Amino acid sequence: MSEEKKKAWHGIAREEIPWFPTVDAEACIGCQLCYVTCGRGVYEMRDGVAVATDPMECAVGCSTCGNICPTNALSFPTLEAVWKLEREKQIFKTVKKEALRKHEREDTQKAREAAQKAVARLPTRAKVEVAGEFGDKHFLVRIEELITDQPFDVVNLKLEVPTVKGARQKAPSYMSFEVTSEQQEDVTPFLEKVRALVHDAGLILVAVSPLG
Ligand code: SF4
Ligand code: SF4
Repeated sequence: MSEEKKKAWHGIAREEIPWFPTVDAEACIGCQLCYVTCGRGVYEMRDGVAVATDPMECAVGCSTCGNICPTNALSFPTLEAVWKLEREKQIFKTVKKEALRKHEREDTQKAREAAQKAVARLPTRAKVEVAGEFGDKHFLVRIEELITDQPFDVVNLKLEVPTVKGARQKAPSYMSFEVTSEQQEDVTPFLEKVRALVHDAGLILVAVSPLG
């Protein structure tokens, strides 16, 4: 924002607006409440007294420091002067445009946050559990083929075989593995391919659980 634009108040040059605090140095007890309260750096403390060294930084219409000063040492012009300027300079045309831009910014921000939440909800990792007889089905080879040239990987693969002899006799075993996205993308479409593969291999899909 240009310095000139920053100093304008809804299209009126800030210097044209007589709104700023005046300190009654006799009444000021140097408590520094105004100095620490004003977020616009209007005050400095000099010789134990508040001095409004940057009065045009005061927010038009604000009188917070004046309201809380314990000795009522701060005064402001009357609001009538501000209202008169609002009318004379027809600031509400500018205000309307500013409001429109603010609505647009807020809508954009809300849309961005909604999109970020939606992306955050997408599962980028899922656990797959499969049961059945794996012996001569070349299941691992088929899984490997499935992920070849895909932005997905299979990790933490575990095969639980009841007994070696049992496996030879084609007793059912249990396998679990995790499907992960290398680019933090939604793994849901890829899981459909895994489901189809399990089905084609004559195995039982025990569970598919998103892991976040
Ligand atoms: S709040 Fe009032 S008394 Fe305290 S420093 Fe400011 S002007 Fe002085
Ligand atoms: S009225 Fe508000 S903006 Fe102005 S000097 Fe006081 S606290 Fe700061």
